[in-house]
Amino acid sequence: MNRNRLSSNVLPTVLFVDMNSFFASCEQQDNYWLRGRPVGVCVYTGRNGCIIAPSVEAKLRGVKTGMRLDQAIVLCPDLVPIQTHPDRYREYHVKIIDVLRTFSDDVVPKSIDEAVVDLTNYQLVYKDMQQTGLAIKQAIRQKVGDWLRCSIGIAPNVFLAKLASGIQKPDGLTIITPDTIDDVLRTLVLTDLPGIGHRMAERLQTGGIYTPLSLRYAKPEYLRAVCKSIIGWHWHLRLNFGGEVDLESNANNKSMSAMRTISEEQRSTPERLDELLQLLCLTLERRMVRQGVFCQDMSFSCRYQNGKTYNYEARFSEPKQDGPELYQIIRERMEKFQIAHQCEPVLNEFLRSMCVAVFRFIPAEVVPLSIFGDEGRKGKFRQTLYDLKAKFGVDKLIRATELRDNPAYRDVIGFGNIKDL
Ligand SMILES: [Mg+2]
Repeated sequence: MNRNRLSSNVLPTVLFVDMNSFFASCEQQDNYWLRGRPVGVCVYTGRNGCIIAPSVEAKLRGVKTGMRLDQAIVLCPDLVPIQTHPDRYREYHVKIIDVLRTFSDDVVPKSIDEAVVDLTNYQLVYKDMQQTGLAIKQAIRQKVGDWLRCSIGIAPNVFLAKLASGIQKPDGLTIITPDTIDDVLRTLVLTDLPGIGHRMAERLQTGGIYTPLSLRYAKPEYLRAVCKSIIGWHWHLRLNFGGEVDLESNANNKSMSAMRTISEEQRSTPERLDELLQLLCLTLERRMVRQGVFCQDMSFSCRYQNGKTYNYEARFSEPKQDGPELYQIIRERMEKFQIAHQCEPVLNEFLRSMCVAVFRFIPAEVVPLSIFGDEGRKGKFRQTLYDLKAKFGVDKLIRATELRDNPAYRDVIGFGNIKDL
């Protein structure tokens, strides 16, 4: 995103596109018979199956995300349970993003069914944002699927655009401007604001802030004190058009690298060098987990005492986040290279420094198989592991590989991911 994040913007030029009942709508798009019927997308469709995505029709009948199939059928006897098809949703996601990119170069996918379309740099092109919103809906219906609906929020920043997209569902179009924001906030409670959970709400209430409106008009220094961090300041900016604070995580981190200078002592033992390489890969894994991203490109470079270098770049067909996997790829490549060229080991006693870098990030939520595939489960476990480590200060690193294949986690993970969307 190439607009100045810190400059304030009062014009509603940021669109947040949220696909309605996305998984179920994709099923209805591909199977005509399902259209207009209450559909529940499940990880598996046995009695204890869990509904991860009800269709618009099912929602109207009271079926909710996370409900067990046997309970949902009591509530809605003609519910049609459908087993999930992650590949299908991913295909639609890619097509939708392609359509959005015909409107602006500044498109950031936020999850498998959400994206930000920033038109701030296109104000000469799109004179009427409401019309543009309608044109986007039409383009999705015409070019991707006639059954697909979305709710679009339009506002001066990403946060308010997301908030606006949630106000009318399905097929909504809501604009928040400095003139209308107070009326919108008046209808909401604190936990309606994306990012305010119960704990945060409690903290704000303790500080005497009981409504979104009072959050908006609280003094920024006071908010900072109540929240005990910069987060308070961010809330002030979001609600007062003070600059963009919600596009950091995937737009501004175009690459991450981990580099080590090698000491003389380390240089002399191949095992030590190998360990350092693993450490670099794990460092990147940790950072990617923290940012909620996977990478699609990686580079590895070595510099030797005589100034010579070894470089290797890889483009992955499947996005990666796993440190040991990155390490393995580098390791294999080095061995192949050594055999092919009959040369000395890449990691040798003349090594001065080595650097691993990862690029081309995508949000963890849109990673292939992110919901049920192995990589997604691994990713989720990694996240959990780091959350636990952060919380309890566990200093021993337990490898995610030890946990990844426990089938008992399947439903829980699927559900967790959906909720995050
Ligand atoms: Mg949605």
